[in-house]
Amino acid sequence: MDIKQLIHTLQHTHQLQPEQMQTLLTAAFSDAVIRAKLAQAAQQTAQAVFGNKIYIRGLIEFTNYCRNDCYYCGIRRSNTEAVRYRLTEEQILSCCEQGYALGFRTFVLQGGEDLIYSDTDLAAIISAIKQAYPDCAVTLSIGERRREAYQLWKKAGADRYLLRHETADSEHYARLHPAELKLSNRKRCLRDLKELGYQVGTGFMVGSPWQTMANLLEDLAFIRELQPQMIGIGPFIPHHATPFKNYPAGTLEQTLTLLSVLRLMFPKVLLPATTALGTIVPNGRELGILAGANVVMPNLSPADVRQNYLLYDNKLCSGAEAAEAKNDLAARLHSIGYEIAEGRGDYKES
Ligand code: SAM
Repeated sequence: MDIKQLIHTLQHTHQLQPEQMQTLLTAAFSDAVIRAKLAQAAQQTAQAVFGNKIYIRGLIEFTNYCRNDCYYCGIRRSNTEAVRYRLTEEQILSCCEQGYALGFRTFVLQGGEDLIYSDTDLAAIISAIKQAYPDCAVTLSIGERRREAYQLWKKAGADRYLLRHETADSEHYARLHPAELKLSNRKRCLRDLKELGYQVGTGFMVGSPWQTMANLLEDLAFIRELQPQMIGIGPFIPHHATPFKNYPAGTLEQTLTLLSVLRLMFPKVLLPATTALGTIVPNGRELGILAGANVVMPNLSPADVRQNYLLYDNKLCSGAEAAEAKNDLAARLHSIGYEIAEGRGDYKES
């Protein structure tokens, strides 16, 4: 099969054999014409499901304390340079209030694994948000916890959970994380979250150190098996105070290719054009949408803490990345033929 046929098959059957996928990825990574064809098919598929609407989520980065020491991450516990902060329940609610006024109907609570917030503290925060904004979805992205915690938060009203698997290969996982962190536990969390009825998101960094083509094929196979409702991918970007400071960032070309492939594999999936993509090139978010993404997650955290949630160097937190600049975002989307969707933007089963 030639490349054009591979794209056609992927678009219409939503799958390829691993060796066919490898051929397609290898070709698209290095050839702009192939990437453009792939993006065109992915955009067509996204538009058949979502029209020209882009879902928005207000991201509240409520703590940058973390008990973990992931080698790639700027808020790892060993980074003594990080200026640490935590938001109170009141501050979080005030972010939601501002977000609600701006039109956000999904709030994403993201943070390091910060055990100062107990399971019940978090449940109280979730219920307070749901009580104040019953028409909004609450998404959590706070890492690995016990099934009981996930259950408590679901009961408190949480709707969705983002937990990237990072890499589906346990040896690769072990090169990116200290020994106490295990891929098996990450997978256990994802299974628990699914069973508990969350809409689940997983994903990986593109171009993380030592990532191979075989790893990427395994990531795609893992995602197919999990059948998540959301998939978050973005380029790895080095942070100067981590062990991976000298590794190169993942590329725009690889990230756009993988976004398009994921859209064609999972037409209905919620697929963000991530902040990391917007960080490696100024119009990265728009290029992500043109490659098949349908979600953006502007930052709703208080302005004075934003620069401290530094997962990687030069992380964007102003301009259209900032929730208060929603008009700017709307104008950028408009310039590529898209509009912000109203409402919660849930995954639609049928
Ligand atoms: N602690 C939670 C967790 O583990 O899911 C949520 C916060 S964690 C910082 C969110 C995501 O940031 C991770 O899943 C990882 O993929 C991404 N990330 C961390 N460091 C990064 C880097 N240097 N470049 C790109 N993405 C990074």
